[in-house]
Amino acid sequence: MTDLTADAPVAEQNGSGAGNPAAPGGGRTVASAVPSSLVARLAGGITAAGEPALVETVAPLTGERLASLPQSTPADVEVAYELARRAQRSWAAQPVRRRAAVLLRFHDLLLRRQDEVLDLIQAETGKARLHAFEEVLAVALAARHYGRAAHSYLRDRRRGGALPVLTHVVEARRPKGVVGHISPWNYPLELSIGDALPAFVAGNAVVNKPDTQTALTALWARELLVEAGLPADLWQIVVGDGPVIGPAVVEHADYVSFTGSTRTGRDVAQRAAARLVGASLELGGKNAMLVLADADLDRAAEGAVRACFSSAGQLCISIERLLVHRSVADEFVARFAERTRALRLGGGLAYGADMGSLVSVRQLDATTRHVEEAVKAGATVVAGGRPRPDLGPFFHEPTILDGVTPEMAVCAEETFGPVVAVYRFDTEDEAVAAANATSYGLNSSVWTKDLRRGRAVAARLRTGTVNVNEAFAAAYGSVGAPMGGMGESGLGRRHGAEGILRFTEAQTIATQRLLPLAPSLGLDDRQFAAVFTGGLRVLKALRFK
Ligand code: NAD
Repeated sequence: MTDLTADAPVAEQNGSGAGNPAAPGGGRTVASAVPSSLVARLAGGITAAGEPALVETVAPLTGERLASLPQSTPADVEVAYELARRAQRSWAAQPVRRRAAVLLRFHDLLLRRQDEVLDLIQAETGKARLHAFEEVLAVALAARHYGRAAHSYLRDRRRGGALPVLTHVVEARRPKGVVGHISPWNYPLELSIGDALPAFVAGNAVVNKPDTQTALTALWARELLVEAGLPADLWQIVVGDGPVIGPAVVEHADYVSFTGSTRTGRDVAQRAAARLVGASLELGGKNAMLVLADADLDRAAEGAVRACFSSAGQLCISIERLLVHRSVADEFVARFAERTRALRLGGGLAYGADMGSLVSVRQLDATTRHVEEAVKAGATVVAGGRPRPDLGPFFHEPTILDGVTPEMAVCAEETFGPVVAVYRFDTEDEAVAAANATSYGLNSSVWTKDLRRGRAVAARLRTGTVNVNEAFAAAYGSVGAPMGGMGESGLGRRHGAEGILRFTEAQTIATQRLLPLAPSLGLDDRQFAAVFTGGLRVLKALRFK
């Protein structure tokens, strides 16, 4: 396999005299980091019977063959549900604290063994190691949070009864059963296991369909969770084409958790609705960052780099629209562009690159189409703008566009690549209206030195998360608070109470004592109605809730 470790600046390599520099590589190849013996071991974790058809994946960094994986059929999905359902019964009977202990052990194992999975994430997605590490960070935060807090989220709660003292009421949380969990390729560790952890600790089993391109990362996470104490059958992984086995995953689920595009999410939601099972949908975005006139421009420019180019922009909460106050726009754009041009692109399996590759030719085509169409229609390229085949087949430069107008696709459609457009505004109202002028509503970011003003602007934005003076990590990393989308960005939330309670059914157990809620003690119907009418007035006067 090719060693993508060229140390020389790109300008020297391709003779173009321009473009982002290449990061030093570190000398390790994908083939040595992900040997066929590891692939074979991990592939053994896929639920697929008989002699399954094989599907090949490609390492985005080099375009060479990465793995050959067995594909599950809809019948295999059914088997996966049977195995998961059987395992779930005894798992649900265990005390929450024992289930939570598995998450806490997993937390420690993950931190200790992170290099193994960083290699896998980089091999499967082509992202920079720093961005792969963000996944380790996110999963560790979720494992600790739900490991420590599940007990309090799930415990029985006393509620006020129909009749004070006489009606004793407990609200309990029961697991849904088996969760169908469909995840995409862009954050393969976080989006396969991160969302599964609260499902497990709430007493569920999970049948997970990761994207085929990133199945090895999910399979590795499953192995590690089993090592931490999860019963092996509780997490089934099926691999195959979304339109072929995805519907089967929804067909047998007691609840569906889906992360992916808005288009597929709609289909999944309709199938779940037809079966009357619940679904949470984490979908796309066209996220805006607002730079107010009083923002610290250096911090904002640094933040914009993280906001727009983490994982080469293949991040649902990535910023693709930069709204800047006209009075500081030229200065801000100059500082942002300078930092963007200096980003080191690289495909080495080591820290050092600021941005990696896109995952596939599909993502590269979508990115180049948006840039080329916009430029043809009159937009200007402030930084980047070109694919970089000299670095690897799917590399594209981090790109800033100016002069983007509404008829250009890049203006409203999610690119899901390293491309951002700059727009100028004069008033705060104008900025808020522009930020909200999208059918999506996932994430946004506001930059100002006046924190109170930042939070006031945030409250006017129609997105599930808003970050003040940060790109996305402040809200996403705060796993005790909900994260998800408004509008076409989704339904439901991960993280916090909502992120775990979605995997449960509420059950109310009401015990009536001494007197029934009906005429008794010799009262006829009319007297019963009179006594209760008086009683209701007293309860309100005594401020009962
Ligand atoms: P996608 O919708 O094409 O695929 C997502 C998953 O769904 C994959 O596992 C795929 O195989 C499966 N799938 C495809 N067709 C299916 C069907 N008919 N039934 C059931 N499953 C099916 O999305 P993608 O292109 O892989 O991922 C990128 C998208 O995901 C972007 O739009 C991005 O914004 C979004 N995303 C959202 C979040 C979030 O938290 N809101 C996080 C990451 C990615």
